[in-house]
Amino acid sequence: MTGNALSDFRRIVIKIGSAILMDQERRLLADWLAGLAEDIAGLRRAGKQVLIVTSGAVAIGGRILKIHPRRSRLEELQAAAAAGQVRLVNAYQEALSRHGITVAQILLTPDDTEIHRRFLNARGTLEKLLEHEVVPVINENDTVATDELRYGDNDRLAARVAQLVMADGLVLLSDIDGFYTADPRRHTDAEHLPLVHGITDEMFEMAGAAGSAVGSGGMLTKLLAAKIAMRAGCSTVLASGTVERPLHALMSGGKCTVFLAGNTPAAARKQWLAGILEVRGELRLDAGAVAALRDGKSLLPVGLVEVIGNFRRGDAVTLVDPGGAELGRGLAAYSSEEASAIRGRQSEQIESILGYRGRSVLVHRDDLVWFGSQENA
Ligand code: GLU
Repeated sequence: MTGNALSDFRRIVIKIGSAILMDQERRLLADWLAGLAEDIAGLRRAGKQVLIVTSGAVAIGGRILKIHPRRSRLEELQAAAAAGQVRLVNAYQEALSRHGITVAQILLTPDDTEIHRRFLNARGTLEKLLEHEVVPVINENDTVATDELRYGDNDRLAARVAQLVMADGLVLLSDIDGFYTADPRRHTDAEHLPLVHGITDEMFEMAGAAGSAVGSGGMLTKLLAAKIAMRAGCSTVLASGTVERPLHALMSGGKCTVFLAGNTPAAARKQWLAGILEVRGELRLDAGAVAALRDGKSLLPVGLVEVIGNFRRGDAVTLVDPGGAELGRGLAAYSSEEASAIRGRQSEQIESILGYRGRSVLVHRDDLVWFGSQENA
């Protein structure tokens, strides 16, 4: 691929693997990080929003606590992650602050992206941070995650984050510069694919399970991540992070593989919403709310006339017009009980009615799909 692989993206999740962030002795590469920060500052000057998903907590913490990641028990790794995460996020903070960029740490567990209710929370916070022009620095919450309940590798975490914030670009920086038909370190005839439109079973076979010395992901986890992202309307760029200023290299035609999404994130989100099988309730709206939704706005409590059914925050509900016709569906930001209590009220009154500060909208416009109109497209 020639040209700038990142030019079309508006919101980019950049995943940094442990192997490129540190040397063999598990020491952070400060100069490399300084170059990355410079690149990120450049992306932001070009009007793009950036989120970072970084590995490295376990490796750095292991060095501090003098344990080896590959030979230690889970509790030890979790302790290592706790110690390492502080250093890790500090290193990003230091590097990015030189460009006047504020960072914020977010630690996620799979529940935060897989359970709708929690998903709304994590997304709300990330959106706010982006609105404040902060760069979120995200990792798995390794300290509390157990083996059964982990993303396991940060490639998948990064893809889930991309899906969560409806990013249109995911960049996986690792020690390999793209997808090959075989492991290029062992097969000289391995062919590099610059552009991929769809991931096939054959590609999964080609990927095998090759890993690297420091990180936990191999080509397989990268393909799985690209698949999740593509389904969410997000294109994935697989590129080498072993060079100085890796994003700058990508923007100047550097070697990579682009897994091109055929959809936009908004269209993919709507498809996903439309495909949720379990709908738990119904919200009957007044004419004003229907008009506002048609204009692409979110649903506010003031436009809600009646609540039917029993649902929890994050559940899918049907939206119906004053005559009872089904308009579409959305994810409720409030439970049925709460929705009934704030029905017909102004958003500013929510706190005094419920006794706590909730969200100002009942269904966010990103969580809404309209039946039978072109807004679905
Ligand atoms: N979350 C792990 C860490 O920060 C890394 C997982 C991975 O390498 O994919 O140490």
